[in-house]
Amino acid sequence: MARKRKLDLEKFRQRLEETRQDLQLGLQRIEDRTSGRDPLNSDTAGEDFDEPGGDAAQETLERTQAMAIGQNLKEMLENVSSALRKIDDGTYGICDICQKDIPKARLEIMPFATMCTACRERHSTR
Ligand SMILES: [Zn+2]
Repeated sequence: MARKRKLDLEKFRQRLEETRQDLQLGLQRIEDRTSGRDPLNSDTAGEDFDEPGGDAAQETLERTQAMAIGQNLKEMLENVSSALRKIDDGTYGICDICQKDIPKARLEIMPFATMCTACRERHSTR
């Protein structure tokens, strides 16, 4: 049963690589944040006073959020990397679980999808 689909793999690879770069950049920024320095706020130039004490709770909250975002980014990065591996393996666009083709429309929206919609839903409501 040879059902080879023609996917524009190079296009997907390129998009995945761009996504990977974005994610890596995002992660880097999060890591800067969670390690104390905050390059995002440093461009409110001039005001470079540190309120003594005060904002510790706020800062903890922000750090917790940043870490949650970082966790998300890491998972995305993982997905993107495995999608890229699948391009190399020639299994790109095939669902990890049921081995069926992932609809092309889905790949267009989420090039890093490694599961079809049905499996994804089953998987995420475990
Ligand atoms: Zn599936």
